Amino acid sequence: MSWFKRDDGDYPPPGGSGPEPNGDEARTVRTEGLWIKCMGCRQAIWKADLAANLNVCPKCQHHFKLSARQRIEMLLEPGYELVDRGLRSTDPLKFTDLKPYKQRLRKAREETGLDDAILNAVGWLGRHPAVVSAMEYGFIGGSMGAVVGETIARAVDRARESRHPLIVVAASGGARMMEGIVSLMQMAKISSALAQLDDARVPYICVLTDPTTGGVTASFAMLGDLNIAEPGALIGFAGPRVIEQTIRQKLPEGFQRSEFLLEKGFLDAVVHRRELKDYLVRALDFLHMQ
Ligand SMILES: [Zn+2]
Repeated sequence: MSWFKRDDGDYPPPGGSGPEPNGDEARTVRTEGLWIKCMGCRQAIWKADLAANLNVCPKCQHHFKLSARQRIEMLLEPGYELVDRGLRSTDPLKFTDLKPYKQRLRKAREETGLDDAILNAVGWLGRHPAVVSAMEYGFIGGSMGAVVGETIARAVDRARESRHPLIVVAASGGARMMEGIVSLMQMAKISSALAQLDDARVPYICVLTDPTTGGVTASFAMLGDLNIAEPGALIGFAGPRVIEQTIRQKLPEGFQRSEFLLEKGFLDAVVHRRELKDYLVRALDFLHMQ
């Protein structure tokens, strides 16, 4: 029962760390799978209710994360095609921090079933043919390395060549530090591809979800013809602590959340997940796509 746990750590297990001989543990494990604690209202929600509500808390409207696959399924009509797959990081720096980067990649691949933190798809968004590129936060924090950069650049090229609008759903902790300068170069690479898309007058909409930070915010996530966000999403470049220490000022309430950024003119709209697809269809109508 994760919602029943103390915030300051659990009680030590009675009499050492051995498993309890009675059936308590089995009961705990079974309920653990059915309920989840909401980060917004701290209430227990039945997982089936959450899934039926597009992973939005039915009580407080807190938006839980969606996987890249769920996101594509939510936006595109059935029959979409996954494209640009099969790229894998070569670990250009042979990087090791607490563990080797190669090992982290292997684990992330096993856990998500993806090659990297991105999934491209082509299909129909309502009545519009579209290219959708969705980021996967579950893959090393949705960080952007060479594979994410190349895959998004391919989605941009695909949109330009087919003249179908591009929708990117961002969910990222920023550039992938294990790839150093190679990851930072992706910012320039995607931005220049987007400039070509703009010259070709093909619409690009970015959907910023929780969280969108670092080099992703500083490049393609803020370059859409429309930049829209889900409610309550953390969006920023550096974290609040670093900013406070640099400018030596206390940051205002709600700083780096969607609603604050909308008010300050960084975003065009904050759209509830329930209305997101209809909003995108109407936006593409407005942008004169057939
Ligand atoms: Zn809630």
